[in-house]
Parts: sequence; C-alpha cells; structure tokens
Amino acid sequence: MSDKMQQIVLASRPTGAPTADNFRLEESQIPTAGPGEIVVEVHYMSLDPYMRGRMDDAKSYAAPVPLDGKMEGGAVGRVIESRNDKYAVGDHVMGAFGWATHATSDGEGLARVDPDQVPLSYTLGVMGMPGFTGWFGLMEHGRPKEGETLVVAAATGPVGSMVGQLAKSMGLRVVGIAGGADKCSLAVDHFGFDACVDHRAFDSASDLRRALKEECPDGIDIYFENVGGKVLEAVLPMMNAFGRIPICGMIAWYNEGGLGASAQEQTLTGPRLWRTILVNFLSVNGFIISNHWDRMGEFHATVGPMLADGRIKTLEDVTEGLENAPEAFINLLEGGNNGKAVVKLV
Ligand code: NDP
Repeated sequence: MSDKMQQIVLASRPTGAPTADNFRLEESQIPTAGPGEIVVEVHYMSLDPYMRGRMDDAKSYAAPVPLDGKMEGGAVGRVIESRNDKYAVGDHVMGAFGWATHATSDGEGLARVDPDQVPLSYTLGVMGMPGFTGWFGLMEHGRPKEGETLVVAAATGPVGSMVGQLAKSMGLRVVGIAGGADKCSLAVDHFGFDACVDHRAFDSASDLRRALKEECPDGIDIYFENVGGKVLEAVLPMMNAFGRIPICGMIAWYNEGGLGASAQEQTLTGPRLWRTILVNFLSVNGFIISNHWDRMGEFHATVGPMLADGRIKTLEDVTEGLENAPEAFINLLEGGNNGKAVVKLV
C-alpha cells in the first residue's frame, strides 16, 4: 500500500469562470496522527457551488481559501489511525477534510456515519448539507401551504430536488426550472415535479416568464432562490401577494464576484425589486445553512424515513479520482452535472 497522499490546492484565483490552471495537484506523505488526532482516508468528497466563492479574495460569510491552500469542502471517509478516545480505526466520519485523499482531525466538528444505514456518499448530498439546506430553507422561510405554487431552479440538483419533492409531498404545485430538456424530464419523471421549464431555451427573461406563466396559472407563492440571473428576473413579477422567497444561492453570478454583471443592470434591478417586495408584501429571507446545524437532527428524523420508503429520491453525479475533481467542479458551475456532484476516491 502506498504511503503517499494527494491534495488539490488553489494555484491562482480565477477571473470569471475557473479553469484547470487555477488548481494544482500535490503529493506528500500520508500524515500520522498527533496526540488526540485521527487520520482519515477519504472515500467521497463533495463538490458544491459555494466553493467558487471561496476561490475569490472577496468579503463574504466565510474567509477565502488562501493561495496555495487546500481547496475546502465536505468529505466522508474511514479512520485509519486514531489517537483520539472518541474514534476508533474503522469508524466512518464526515467532516471538512477538503480536496484530499487523506486528512488529519482533532475530532472537532465531525459527524459519525454508519455505512450500513445510509450509503456514504448520501451524507454529502440528500442526507447531508445540501438536502438539509433544501429542507431548512423551505420549512423555515418558504412556509409551504397545500394548494400553493412553488418554483425552484437548479431543480435536479441536491437542493432543488429536495425542495421540490418536499413541497410536492405537502400538496403544492411544484414547477422546476432546469438547464436542458433531459434535466427537465428528470425533474418530472424521476423527482415527480408537476412541470419543468428549460431556462436554456429562452434568451430573455420575458420569454422565460411567458413559458412559466403557462405552468403557473395561479402565479407563484414560493420562489426558492437558487440561481439569480435571468430566472430571478423572470419570476419576480409573477409573485403573489404574501409570497415568500428564501434566498439560498445565486449561482448565475458566482463567476462575476457574486453580483450581476453591469452596474447599470444593478441600478435598474434594485429599485424595481424593492417596490415588488413592498406592493406584494413579500417575505424575503437570506440564510446560510452553517448557522443552523442545530436543526440537523430534526431534518434526519423527518426526511430519513421519506428516503427509506422512496418518497424522496436522489440522483448522484459521481466522478472517479481526485485528479478529475477540478474538471468536475468546472462542469458543475456550467450546469453539466446530473444530480449531486461527488468525487469517489476509494
Ligand atoms: P446543483 O448541484 O444544482 O448545481 C448547480 C446548478 O445550478 C447547475 O447544475 C445548473 O443546473 C444551475 N445553474 C448554473 N448556472 C446557472 C444559471 N446561470 N442560471 C440558472 N441555473 C444555473 O447545486 P446545489 O443543489 O448544490 O446548490 C443549489 C444552490 O444552492 C446554489 O446556488 C448553492 O450555492 C446554494 N446553496 C446554498 C446554501 C446556503 O447555505 N445558503 C447551502 C447549499 C447550497 P441547470 O443545468 O439545471 O440550470
């Protein structure tokens, strides 16, 4: 067995969309555990849109990854050495191990995982951070009611598919927005959405809105915001009085430093947005899921049984090998993933 490990570091900060040059694969000795530490062999690591923000040196809710620093991220694996009383060799744990085949930890912030209960990779997706994000945002800020209409984009991803399936199970009309005809079919046939509109088929927000109107004849009560951009512009005028907008993410702008392209666009959009919120009495709530880990138990208790009996379905996009992680991440930002993006290392 090799005593070498690999990790991927941030070689340079991207301008616009990231490229392979922004990442560097490094090899070193597998570390040994210091006092109180464990060494983890990573089996799956997660690829998530928020990682794009960490590549910029910009003010945000979390510090950027330093240049030459290991790319951050959630991962799950097996303890191969332990000097920590809480964890034994052979235990499975999930934690922020980053883009690497191995990592050390003092045990803080780890979650124990039972691979006999749930496939390891699910702890990064449907039963992990993204699934929890969809559940929390919908229940806490969406406040769904039977008979209402919900719209969510990135509909086949781990957040959007959780939102749509939960809302559907509560008796809402659920309309997804996804990139391409295949993803729209997945949203309807696999995840059980009532309808799905392909945002790539429309160049303008007004054309996209016309298509959405056909699928949302009673307007929109909940817009679960995953993407921003053209989709947000299309949806906003369709919001019903007392509608709710949980603001979860705005991936359409992640390659532009987190905000829309031109200053002109921003000055036009800002006041219009403000007035729309006022005259429709909208509730708009931004949230970052890492502030709400205390609700994770409630999520597992609610959604675990739904996954077990098939009321909640999942879909994974698995890439093999750490060296392929940058390409898979670039692909995710372009919408090339079909379901939760993970990288299999073992
Ligand atoms: P996904 O796996 O769904 O991947 C992102 C998807 O976004 C792509 O597959 C693509 O889907 C879609 N997309 C990319 N660019 C655009 C665009 N310009 N316009 C419309 N859609 C686009 O991601 P997740 O489910 O993991 O995350 C969804 C959102 O939730 C992200 O914005 C993410 O940052 C956010 N998030 C927020 C958290 C929080 O704490 N607030 C926690 C976790 C996630 P398609 O091809 O269908 O368009």
